[in-house]
Amino acid sequence: DDEFIGFASLPDQVHRKAVKRGFEFSLMVVGETGLGKSTLINSLFLTDLYKDRDLPSSSDAIERTVEIVKKQLEIEERGVKVRLSVVDTPGYNDSVNGDENWRPIVDYVDRQFDQYYQAESGVNRKNIQDTRVHCCLYFISPYGHGLKPLDVFMMKQLHNKVNIVPLIAKSDILTPKEVKRLKTKVLEEVQNHGINIYQFPECDSDEDDEFKEQDKALKSAVPFAVVGSNTVVEVAGKKIRGRMYPWGIVEVDNPKHCDFVKLRQMLIGTHMQDLKDLTSDIHYENYRAEHIAKESE
Ligand code: GDP
Ligand code: MG
Repeated sequence: DDEFIGFASLPDQVHRKAVKRGFEFSLMVVGETGLGKSTLINSLFLTDLYKDRDLPSSSDAIERTVEIVKKQLEIEERGVKVRLSVVDTPGYNDSVNGDENWRPIVDYVDRQFDQYYQAESGVNRKNIQDTRVHCCLYFISPYGHGLKPLDVFMMKQLHNKVNIVPLIAKSDILTPKEVKRLKTKVLEEVQNHGINIYQFPECDSDEDDEFKEQDKALKSAVPFAVVGSNTVVEVAGKKIRGRMYPWGIVEVDNPKHCDFVKLRQMLIGTHMQDLKDLTSDIHYENYRAEHIAKESE
């Protein structure tokens, strides 16, 4: 698949090591029910992660996610294997009063840290399975006018534990102008509420111009406006993933239609290692320090 770009840009040493060991990467999707989380992860990895549920292949319907499910798959790019885990979560309800179904999501993240910590202090430290969540795709409703109180709450529960990458869900229902407005609003609110979202690293000054341009385009697209689809439609004889409307077809893979390609490029290509490093060096270290402090109390 020549659309994948990225591993080639890793420094040689990192690249060699990665080729040998393969990458382990865990991605989590979080947000209200019905925002297209399950659909998007299917689209991202061009695979039907839910095929074992025996749905007719032409159907766009995915069963409602009622519990946290982890799906694993292996992808390969330029000889580099990635063992990918996708953690799909049920959407929490919109009612804040007493309804605590956001908690299992936070607990899941904590539990992976805990397991890693246990493994690290065990005998067989060389071959630890890294199930820590390296990235959380946070889905924001296209119907609202920015973050909802529950989004703010949820993101704050997660932002010191995991790299949050915010997304505008189902962006095909908005006009380009509305997308732009919502993006600006979301970034403002993220800032005002003191939410830490994933910060793209500064681009090395010795990178070539093409890389710099690409990096800039990625950064400026946050929060990525995405469209997911399980339906394959035909455009000019070519089969593509898209959503059909009376006025035309929204193509998932068309950069003019949404930021899907940018998101995938960042996750699977250019920024996977950085997401892993931050998880290990910042989020996990935070957890460890807290854990040790608690133990010595
Ligand atoms: P989840 O509850 O967040 O996992 O949402 P689902 O993936 O189950 O999708 C909920 C509904 O929204 C389904 O009917 C999907 O076909 C539809 N849907 C998913 N992604 C999109 C999208 O990008 N645009 C539009 N318009 N509908 C979508
Ligand atoms: Mg779902």
